[in-house]
Amino acid sequence: MTKEQYIESLRKLNLKVYLFGELIENPVDHPVIRPSLNSVAMTYELAEMEEYKDIMTATSNLTGKRINRFCHLHQSPEDLIKKVKMQRLLGQKTGACFQRCVGMDAFNAIYSTTFEIDEKCGTNYHQRFVEYMKFVQDNDLTVDGAMTDPKGDRGLSPSQQEDPDMYLRIVEERKDGIVVRGAKAHQTGAVNSHEHLIMPTIAMKEEDKNYAVAFACPSDAEGIVMIYGRQSCDSRKLEAGADIDLGNSQFGGHEALVIFNDVFVPWERVFLCKEYEFAGMMVERFAGYHRQSYGGCKVGVGDVLIGASALAADYNGAAKASHIKDKLIEMTHLNETLYSCGIACSCEGKKTKAGNYQIDLLLANVCKQNVTRFPYEIARLAEDIAGGIMVTMPSEQDFRDKKIGHYVEKYLKGAVGVDTENRMRVLRLIENITLGTAAVGYRTESMHGAGSPQAQRIMIARQGNITGKKELAKKLAKVDETKNRK
Ligand code: SF4
Ligand code: FE
Repeated sequence: MTKEQYIESLRKLNLKVYLFGELIENPVDHPVIRPSLNSVAMTYELAEMEEYKDIMTATSNLTGKRINRFCHLHQSPEDLIKKVKMQRLLGQKTGACFQRCVGMDAFNAIYSTTFEIDEKCGTNYHQRFVEYMKFVQDNDLTVDGAMTDPKGDRGLSPSQQEDPDMYLRIVEERKDGIVVRGAKAHQTGAVNSHEHLIMPTIAMKEEDKNYAVAFACPSDAEGIVMIYGRQSCDSRKLEAGADIDLGNSQFGGHEALVIFNDVFVPWERVFLCKEYEFAGMMVERFAGYHRQSYGGCKVGVGDVLIGASALAADYNGAAKASHIKDKLIEMTHLNETLYSCGIACSCEGKKTKAGNYQIDLLLANVCKQNVTRFPYEIARLAEDIAGGIMVTMPSEQDFRDKKIGHYVEKYLKGAVGVDTENRMRVLRLIENITLGTAAVGYRTESMHGAGSPQAQRIMIARQGNITGKKELAKKLAKVDETKNRK
């Protein structure tokens, strides 16, 4: 699809989206939602451009057709690297979360996992999923890959919860399909998606088998209700004459609480149904891919933030100060370290039994663990360089006011020759990424998106091979453990 076709295709959906307690008639043109839609639209726009063709498109292993890379099943380490490069590019172009990666990461995790379920259980999930992927690729769809359940009491398993709906579950099995109930929280891009692709959120035991479910359904399926997530400073988008105040008026991201009120799913869209022993594999693989993703998207937004900080220094007249130069070096060092991790886990990618490529899990988890820290430090340095005015500055309305605008113009001037409005715009962009609407994607999502820090530490512990490392040390130190007292 072209960008325009994508936008038109969303108009045809009959979504139930609530925002500020109201059902939104037209999400596509809603001022709070539209910037996030524009970010997804960029994934279509860039794919049409000759200069980005290699990075933004790929050849489908299923149909041999040229497809958008966001719908691709990775066929080599090179594909994995191009994925990260594509995400960095999109982060640079939007300065926000462009949402389409969750679907891509779900495609690749479900493709390989269904193959292995069928191998063990004699089911036919993989072929069903292949048919689904052809549908997605041929129609160039945006798909919300949905994993995170609300989880209720974190000390209790899905089946132990007081309210059995705290994890999404199968409530009825019919001849023609299943009926599901529950919710998925913080669903990135849900309102801008044609389809939802659901996965379980944790490894499960037999008593949780009704919760071991993966399926796809249209985003406007009967019984789905979406409640749009609030973001810091979001109501500025509803104000007239607040273009400067928005910092980035064109682009954004969004999350939604997606509720499944007894949604029917036909068998051809069910990809896991009660084979609880495979829930963990699906979760681990999806999380691995999404932890790789952050080595691309967060780096691209980081590039914008570093650029904005350098501009703020120029406009403040402070660019020559050695500590400013050093802070920009530090920000670059941190940002490129994240990128290095994203590239490294891609280079070390391995072929799965199904034939698509999986990133190196240890390196992807190290990537994400760094993402839980470095963007915070980059944001801290950006605020340091920008100065306090980035959060105390008067509004655009005051700046444009006939009576007092000249005061703002005069007293917010920075370096000689720099236009006051330009300075305000750059400072607001820094505010947007570090504290405003885009901070959801750049800050808190860096902490909790693709799994909170402890989830990566568990994986690092599992993959770190401490036993093997002990053997290395024993050999060099000439340790003879038979001499140890038992
Ligand atoms: Fe893509 Fe990053 Fe947004 Fe996740 S947070 S959907 S990886 S842009
Ligand atoms: Fe995310």
